[in-house]
Amino acid sequence: MKYVSTRGQAPELTFEQAMMTGLARDGGLYLPETIPTFSAAEIAALEGLPYEEVARRVVAPFIGDSFTDAELRQAIAKAYGNFGHIARAPLVQLAPGHHLLELFHGPTLAFKDFAMQLIGQLFQIALARSGDRITIVGATSGDTGSAAIEAFKGLANVDVFILYPHGRVSEVQRRQMSTPSEANVHALAIDGHFDDAQARLKDLFNDHTFRDEVGLAGVNSINWARVLAQVVYYFTAAVSLGAPLREIDFTVPTGNFGDIFAASIAKEMGLPIGKLVIATNQNDILHRALTTGEYRTGTVEPSISPSMDIQVSSNFERALYLAYGRDAGAIRQLMDELKSGGFTISQGALRHLRETYVSGRASEEETTAMIRTIRAEAAEVICPHTAVAVKVARENLRPGVPMISLSTAHPAKFPDAVEAALGIRPPLPPHMADLFERDERITQVPNDAEALKALVRDRRRA
Ligand SMILES: *Cc1c(COP(=O)(O)O)cnc(C)c1O
Repeated sequence: MKYVSTRGQAPELTFEQAMMTGLARDGGLYLPETIPTFSAAEIAALEGLPYEEVARRVVAPFIGDSFTDAELRQAIAKAYGNFGHIARAPLVQLAPGHHLLELFHGPTLAFKDFAMQLIGQLFQIALARSGDRITIVGATSGDTGSAAIEAFKGLANVDVFILYPHGRVSEVQRRQMSTPSEANVHALAIDGHFDDAQARLKDLFNDHTFRDEVGLAGVNSINWARVLAQVVYYFTAAVSLGAPLREIDFTVPTGNFGDIFAASIAKEMGLPIGKLVIATNQNDILHRALTTGEYRTGTVEPSISPSMDIQVSSNFERALYLAYGRDAGAIRQLMDELKSGGFTISQGALRHLRETYVSGRASEEETTAMIRTIRAEAAEVICPHTAVAVKVARENLRPGVPMISLSTAHPAKFPDAVEAALGIRPPLPPHMADLFERDERITQVPNDAEALKALVRDRRRA
């Protein structure tokens, strides 16, 4: 299996190389040259299997010779063995025909653990084989950073630097990043928004001298291996509700477009996903793009669902690449126009995108109201990101077609928003009960690439 860049000017890579690299050297994102497909019989055979076995079957066709079957089995077993639920990604019913897919039973209580725990294991296998040292630098709106620190802390040949927007993550998110005591992990509070953090991260990757000097590796959702790990739960969920014999709809609370792009891959592989609904908060660039064909960045309005407070959705480039019929030249042009504020999606590509995705948005008031509604109707306490999805999903229900809304974080990760809606503070699960007593370690950094490079050079263990 070969991986190609959406901008067409970076070398083709193997799965392992694409995973270790993250962002392509031409600024693009890696995608498999072709998407493997499953027959209806192969999909039906997934019914009732353990999550780990479904993961092995779904992931294997994408990794080629990069890992042996034994290595893959071992990595998957270790990745999900410490999750707090035997089903790993259990379904809970909200209403007739509407289900929640709970993706918050991993160590940091958000769906990011599904991908990060797996790539943590795969990185260890690859680094043990090569003897290389790497430096992981990531940008986070909160959940990626905590998941990455949890997955890579204490590893001998990895240093981890996580940039998060100062003052714009929840206290639980911040403490999950700042309290691990392992010397190889560093929480960096950048003076700016998430988009600033992501832009500085790209600056570091685009400085090829620096990149090679420190062995820079990326674990943001631009990393193909992360998208791939997220394809798995669309299969387990859809098959539990009757796929491949019936269609299943999904609604995904969307920020950087990684999670919903994984759903589109599952669909390409043959999973009968009907409607695939993008749910955004008030930062609704994706909803506007699908509605108007204009992809224009505005300013980020901080919301109660902060993990979706994004204006530039990095993984949308992958969806555009597929919608433009894998025309890398067209993508280079669009990304150039994006630097000066935005672009118009061509009619053909827009038609293609609308065949795959529909979209909707939830305001702050609607999000809070939905947390209340679901508590009243289904006795479930949901996090604000999940509430955004549930609100938009309810506008897209179809008779006879099950809808699955993704529940991307545990409500205790966003206690202020939940308390504002319900008047109760959801408790942290036992393994994290003392989070607020642990010591924090944070470095403040300016919104400046050169200062960041200096800090990484200084702190990494050479
Ligand atoms: C990251 C995140 C999202 C958005 O996912 P993307 O893959 O970036 O679209 C939604 N909800 C929560 C809780 C998250 O952590």
